[in-house]
Amino acid sequence: RRAEYATIRGLPAETKDGERVTLMVNAGLAEDAAMLEMAGADGIGLFRTEFQFLIAATLPGRESQLRLYRNVLDAAGDKPVVFRTVDIGGDKALPYLSEEQKDESENPAMGWRALRLSLQRKALMKAQARALIEASAGKTLRVMFPMVSEPWEYEEARALFEEQIAWTKSAKRAVPKRVEFGAMLEVPSLAEMLDILLPRVDFLSIGTNDLTQFLFAADRADPRLADRYDWLSPAILRFLRRVANEARAAGVPVRVCGEMAGRPLEAMALIGIGIDSFSITPAAVGPVKAMVRSIDAAAVRSRVEALLAKPPANMRKALGDWARRHGV
Ligand code: PEP
Ligand code: MG
Repeated sequence: RRAEYATIRGLPAETKDGERVTLMVNAGLAEDAAMLEMAGADGIGLFRTEFQFLIAATLPGRESQLRLYRNVLDAAGDKPVVFRTVDIGGDKALPYLSEEQKDESENPAMGWRALRLSLQRKALMKAQARALIEASAGKTLRVMFPMVSEPWEYEEARALFEEQIAWTKSAKRAVPKRVEFGAMLEVPSLAEMLDILLPRVDFLSIGTNDLTQFLFAADRADPRLADRYDWLSPAILRFLRRVANEARAAGVPVRVCGEMAGRPLEAMALIGIGIDSFSITPAAVGPVKAMVRSIDAAAVRSRVEALLAKPPANMRKALGDWARRHGV
């Protein structure tokens, strides 16, 4: 199969009935950007900026952030890179931040993390915004915010970036040619507020790792629950379909950037509910592309629709059997 993935590396992720699927990769270190070419991917759909913070001994300053973001953009060349602002806090506590940041809460995933922390510690976010703006001078800056639970949080984060862009301009420094703002949808409450959010975002990125644990109230890090809540559950697929439909109606592109999309059968189900853009781990690009090239998107959609209308007891088995019968 490895040989098979190598032969399709340069070929498009296109279904048999001619639908193009966007396959981007998740990354977090400068070296990851080099994987882009190797994997034959369309860009970096999720650059986890907190990695630099997690491996550093002291808080990375604006200069070192700037260096990293420049390197990543250079390595990506013409391909897009979506930077996610830091998702630290909770279980990803940084020892060099003040004591208050160390989270002793029992539920760190639902704690003071990601955008919640960033909006209360604005100096951190400002430094990151400046670094991203400077690194993207003359280019397109794509930025998204993690753990948005309500639209106002997105607005506040976006306003902070816009203020920094205005400041950069007033200082007669180069600014990005274009800026695209997006929200991660990984907290279920945001799905109820899409009518307010969608007109304000350039894209939506669904983080199925966190979303699944919050939808099912099941800790993503607990191995005893790992097999219990399946990514192919009708509850998740119906939820995602609703989000995808609303976004499509509003003309907002949607991407799934959780691990779910890196598994061929799950990715097939996502195509079945109308999602055609994924950001996945580089090693998954070959297998997912092979799946995409083996399916008829229209047939997958009608099968998944039928299964979701009357869900079988075992969705995974039903989809898997169908896929095998259809040479996927
Ligand atoms: C997610 O939650 O699905 C996601 C992509 O973000 P992370 O895994 O970094 O929390
Ligand atoms: Mg997440």
